[in-house]
Amino acid sequence: MQTTHHFIDGRMRPASDGQTFDKRSPVDNHLMGRVARGTRDDVDAAVGAARSALRGEWGRMAVDKRVAMLHAVADGITRRFDDFVAAEEADTGQPHHVIAHAFVPRGAANFKIFADIIKNVPAESFAMDTPDGAGALNYAIRKPKGVIGVISPWNAPFLLMTWKVGPALACGNTVVVKPSEETPATATLLGEVMNEVGVPHGVYNVVHGFGPDAAGEFLTRHDGVDAITFTGETRTGAAIMKAAADGIRDVSFELGGKNAGIVFADCDFDAAVEGIFRSAFLNTGQVCLGTERVYVERPVFERFVAALKARCEAVRHGRPSDPQADYGPLISQEHKRKVLSYYQRAVADGATVVTGGGVPAMPDELAEGAWVQPTIWTGLAETAAVVQEEIFGPCCHIRPFDSEQEVVELANANRYGLSTTIWTENLRRAHRMAGAIEVGITWVNSWFLRDLRTPFGGAKQSGIGREGGVHSLEFYTEMRNVCIKL
Ligand code: NAD
Repeated sequence: MQTTHHFIDGRMRPASDGQTFDKRSPVDNHLMGRVARGTRDDVDAAVGAARSALRGEWGRMAVDKRVAMLHAVADGITRRFDDFVAAEEADTGQPHHVIAHAFVPRGAANFKIFADIIKNVPAESFAMDTPDGAGALNYAIRKPKGVIGVISPWNAPFLLMTWKVGPALACGNTVVVKPSEETPATATLLGEVMNEVGVPHGVYNVVHGFGPDAAGEFLTRHDGVDAITFTGETRTGAAIMKAAADGIRDVSFELGGKNAGIVFADCDFDAAVEGIFRSAFLNTGQVCLGTERVYVERPVFERFVAALKARCEAVRHGRPSDPQADYGPLISQEHKRKVLSYYQRAVADGATVVTGGGVPAMPDELAEGAWVQPTIWTGLAETAAVVQEEIFGPCCHIRPFDSEQEVVELANANRYGLSTTIWTENLRRAHRMAGAIEVGITWVNSWFLRDLRTPFGGAKQSGIGREGGVHSLEFYTEMRNVCIKL
């Protein structure tokens, strides 16, 4: 049975006390392997290695060389593309086309884009007058923050982890990553690539394990960590913020969402159906940017519900390797229980179940997998739990609306504010809506169309700070001002 180890100071290592935990397949629940269960000592060793690396070759490395090294990491990922795809498919159970065409290529892109940005970022300077007339010159320099703690989730594990590791390293920091316990494989694999392309030991470290009172919390409370970047649930963000407060550590948070999809009667109907289908059901609904609340202008409501229902009923569940299958399981049995409890709750609250609501019929060898049906509800009050709370599963509630003002109020009546997708041919209205909806990202006639130079993050309880493009530099570097009297 294979064990996934930590990656500390350039070496694969078991946990200091030899403990492991089981990793099971989401597809059929078989025991895939064991994973090192991070201890306080492991976190100590990783943070120590990261600190030493800052004082060594990495800390002295010229920017050009660092940039070249990050390009080499991206090329190394591309060279081992099939290994990354296989590891991510095994951990998540998601279809090959999603992993191979979207998630793994983005992992490589996350290194290239920030390497290129750091090379071209201008410095700030101010000439000032002084009473003696001689003047003074101020200029600001960017310095790495130090050791960055990276805590990442399971839903697109490689993409989301590298989205933080890429800019952190481009800015000259070192990192200790605590990947999700559900998806450990690609983080450790990336360690192999780091060694293959000659990244100095200690620059990139991985400690596996759980969150509360375990590796995650040990990392967020560690005195040697200078800043924490986290993607995951809002309530986990609150726990991490408390832990970070004791050490006055900076945080960057990408948190949960309960995103609204808005369909106007004047939209390109087929494109809107396909767009909302993707946004609600891609990755089995396990996308932070996903749509779980759909608002459809009344003249096209019935037609839209029928079209989305037909689209859901056409999905084919199966293994990533099955060429006939285009739909994967949820990440785990635990998550399946959570999603199914929301399915029951919706019915108890009086929902009309348009489609789904349970578990699909699967062949015997997959019967133990974390499968659930794509599900659509109508008829619920906006206060219902499935309309207000993030479920993070393949489901949405659809409600008709009659006016632009009404739908803006509906969309904003939620504690989250991550993203929205609006479907209309009226661009004047689209601009108005984009200004009025309280989210970090608005897509018009599209969804998940990402230019990595743009600011990414959530409003309200969906996050703190923005990453992406030059905005990542604000978090991963510290500006220092130098004032020279002339
Ligand atoms: P989670 O919060 O349960 O776990 C995320 C990570 O935090 C894991 O590595 C976990 O071990 C760790 N963790 C848990 N408790 C901790 C603690 N007390 N201290 C330190 N670390 C701790 O989230 P998840 O279930 O893995 O991911 C799904 C969530 O992530 C959803 O809410 C989703 O919306 C959100 N998400 C947000 C974005 C975004 O960009 N805004 C992107 C992807 C996912």
